[in-house]
Amino acid sequence: MSQIQNHLESSSHILVLGMGGTIAGLASNPDSKPLQYDAGQVEISTLLAQIQSAIPGEIGLVSEQLANINSCNMSEPLLTLLGRAVKDALDNSRFKGIVITHGTDTIEETGLFLQLVCGRFAQNLGKRVVLTGAMLPANASNADGLKNLLDAIHWAASPLDNSPGGIYAVMGGRVCMAMDLAKRHTTALNAPIQSSPSSPVGLINPSWLSGVKAAEIAWHEDLSIPDGDAWPWVEILTSHGGAKGELVDALVAQGVEGIVIAGTGQGSVNQVLAERLVWAAQMGVAVVRSSRTGAGAVFSEIPEPDTAWNWLSARDLSPPKARIALQLALLEANSRKTEDWQSIFATI
Ligand code: ASP
Repeated sequence: MSQIQNHLESSSHILVLGMGGTIAGLASNPDSKPLQYDAGQVEISTLLAQIQSAIPGEIGLVSEQLANINSCNMSEPLLTLLGRAVKDALDNSRFKGIVITHGTDTIEETGLFLQLVCGRFAQNLGKRVVLTGAMLPANASNADGLKNLLDAIHWAASPLDNSPGGIYAVMGGRVCMAMDLAKRHTTALNAPIQSSPSSPVGLINPSWLSGVKAAEIAWHEDLSIPDGDAWPWVEILTSHGGAKGELVDALVAQGVEGIVIAGTGQGSVNQVLAERLVWAAQMGVAVVRSSRTGAGAVFSEIPEPDTAWNWLSARDLSPPKARIALQLALLEANSRKTEDWQSIFATI
């Protein structure tokens, strides 16, 4: 853990955890080809040194490099490492808040993971965990990373008057709950921050988020963080015209524990695939049906009879988020023994 500033009372420190991503990326020809770059090249301490003069004197920063990767290579052991680091920091009275720099490609999965394993804890403690990233590499002339990082630190350090503790994301001058992140554009500067009926997106400063999610999140008990090697094997299968069932057979033969269907439209599933997935569920594989559309919800009543087939609907979880949720639900069901994965998934 490298300490950048340490001249203040203990509770005013912000822990900044570096995971890599474009915010730490470097392009070899930043002026002519800024989008051709390698993610995860610059240390978090180097990024923080560049904004240090803009950090208010009362905020002390401590940084830790947990990884420096392109987030398309995010792994389950790394999620475990991150989840534990966040939980430890939340539990540490030295830290008022936590900022995480992360690649935007899989930031929505990490956002949901953190919400499910320590969202309640953060809320109860009145601390903010803030994910941020960038769409342009650190050496691009109009790089967005440092401004995002600064905004995230401000959001983590600002008083709770306007919104509660919890797991947030900040990018492009806007903030949302991290569980609602959804990258829906390949290059737009605020690509991962989406507005949805349940999650208004706000500008970073105004008091837009007053209590918005507090009540909704309050029912949810934090789930356990899996040991790095204990994550259940869950795959995503996309339904499409001309789908074949052999992939399901191969996965079941290899011991897959769960399958998330990225269905078409409202979650409809090609008949050929559906037949094999009904069989997979009979073989004990957990099957969850989501939609590949990118927005909106899948309900259990339409268009497929999930209950009769022993599948579950992902509701408004995108396929990658449903995958994380299913992994955690399967693990929790194993450890609790008293509840099945379906009832745990249904509370997510
Ligand atoms: N490929 C990068 C990553 O996810 C993209 C980004 O950070 O925006 O690490």
